[in-house]
Amino acid sequence: MGGTASMSSLETDYLIVGAGASGLAFADEMLLRSDAHLTLVDRRPAPGGHWNDAYSFVRLHQPSVMYGVGSRELGDQTVDRDGPNAGFLGLASGQEVTDYFHKVLEEYLLPSGRVTWLPAHDFVGDNTLRNLETGETLKIDVRRKTVNAAHLTNSIPTTHTRNFEVAPGVACVPPNELPGLLGNFGHYTVLGNGKTAMDTCIWLLSQGVPAENIRWVISRDCWLWNRAFTQPEDRFFEVVFRGFLNRQRAIAEATSPEDMALRFEQIGMWMRVDPDIEPTVYRGATMSEREIEMLRTIEDTVRLGRARRIVPGTLHLERGQVSAPVDMLYIDCTASAVHGSVSPPVSVFQGNTIVLQMIRFPQIPFSAALTAYLETLLETDTEKNRFTEPIALEESMEGFVRALVPDFTNRLNASMHPEVRRWVNASRLDIYAHTGARVTREDTAKRAILNDLREANFAAAANLTKLIADLNLRAA
Ligand SMILES: Cc1cc2nc3c(=O)[nH]c(=O)nc-3n(C[C@H](O)[C@H](O)[C@H](O)COP(=O)(O)OP(=O)(O)OC[C@H]3O[C@@H](n4cnc5c(N)ncnc54)[C@H](O)[C@@H]3O)c2cc1C
Repeated sequence: MGGTASMSSLETDYLIVGAGASGLAFADEMLLRSDAHLTLVDRRPAPGGHWNDAYSFVRLHQPSVMYGVGSRELGDQTVDRDGPNAGFLGLASGQEVTDYFHKVLEEYLLPSGRVTWLPAHDFVGDNTLRNLETGETLKIDVRRKTVNAAHLTNSIPTTHTRNFEVAPGVACVPPNELPGLLGNFGHYTVLGNGKTAMDTCIWLLSQGVPAENIRWVISRDCWLWNRAFTQPEDRFFEVVFRGFLNRQRAIAEATSPEDMALRFEQIGMWMRVDPDIEPTVYRGATMSEREIEMLRTIEDTVRLGRARRIVPGTLHLERGQVSAPVDMLYIDCTASAVHGSVSPPVSVFQGNTIVLQMIRFPQIPFSAALTAYLETLLETDTEKNRFTEPIALEESMEGFVRALVPDFTNRLNASMHPEVRRWVNASRLDIYAHTGARVTREDTAKRAILNDLREANFAAAANLTKLIADLNLRAA
């Protein structure tokens, strides 16, 4: 492999810790905008971060066209004709995502001659790495900055630690093992309330497992983002931008976080699985209405809190227990993908360190690429941090409302800076900006929506300030 470690590679301008979507999107943009030398390190043996350990039927939640690194497309503008995503832009599979990240590294980053790749190296602090194969340590002489691209590191089903007991004789596996076991069991219990659990339920149904043989354990119901509103393409302009306009108006009128959620539901932007149960959690998981319909066919849902212990014939939960047939396979989808598994937010630019975080909700690769652009464009940390207020990943409704503030601030500041605005408008990694920027003066219908949106943004920001003041008062 080109660019593997040698004595000369121990000096670098930027040491990037983590070669997941964040680290790669940052490296891609830095390479394009500067002549800096970059060293990319990961404790994994391959680029792509958590996607390397994903279950085989995983797909992106949102269109491929806005994922990955800025300079290289992932997927095309093709709309799916069949399946639960029919009518929407394609969603890359996990394998396609990891293949794509391999190509980014092998065919673009390394051939530049300005990137050194150190796989299977653990960053142990103080710009020191430990080679996980040999145990040797390596001190990197970093001329400019260390970039922490591991702050948002995901917990995923194969690598997380279970927080419930499984007695001998009970079959309980992560979703990665499910395809190999399908057919060996008559009944399936899916544990978890997030996107992985929903993917697993939908996959079982699509494999022909009857809905009555599937049990779904939901500790807390989640609000889900309707994928119809995440289509970054001209042909979806009306739905997407009118949806965004309605969302901003809903924020402007909301009287509480819970009221905001119900308003988002009224406009079709958020959805819930059970119409009779009001969700309390939002994690940014994105679904189509067809997928929700499939999930609703599963009637054996258990809402007795989290699983505590599974013994043959019985599942014990926080608030009760349910009996289970002997041919039950439990699928553990309880790992939290992003929320709850990450460190609290800190300043992005802090002297000789950059800590990559979400600075636009919920767009992680976009956030990393914009951070790299700001690094090359502006001089001081104060100037750069104006655009990068970190967004905390909290799942409560109150947390969601609080997270809107840095999102609004970053968007507003970017929109008022001509060069940053131009960059944002040209980035394919953002859902809205480039589609909005392509609207011509002559297109009066679309212009009208954009003008209304501008007004709604101000009204939303004003009410948000009031909502946060109320929340602070409540907390005091
Ligand atoms: C099922 C699923 C679907 C998703 N779909 C979408 C989607 O459609 N669109 C979207 O925008 N987002 C989606 N996401 C969110 C996704 O997590 C992010 O887009 C992105 O992949 C996160 O990348 P990351 O680089 O921040 O983190 P990671 O992928 O976790 O990468 C961090 C890397 O840092 C390395 N690392 C950590 N500590 C160290 C250390 N001390 N030394 C060396 N290396 C270290 C880790 O090994 C890891 O490889 C999805 C997430 C999941 C789980």
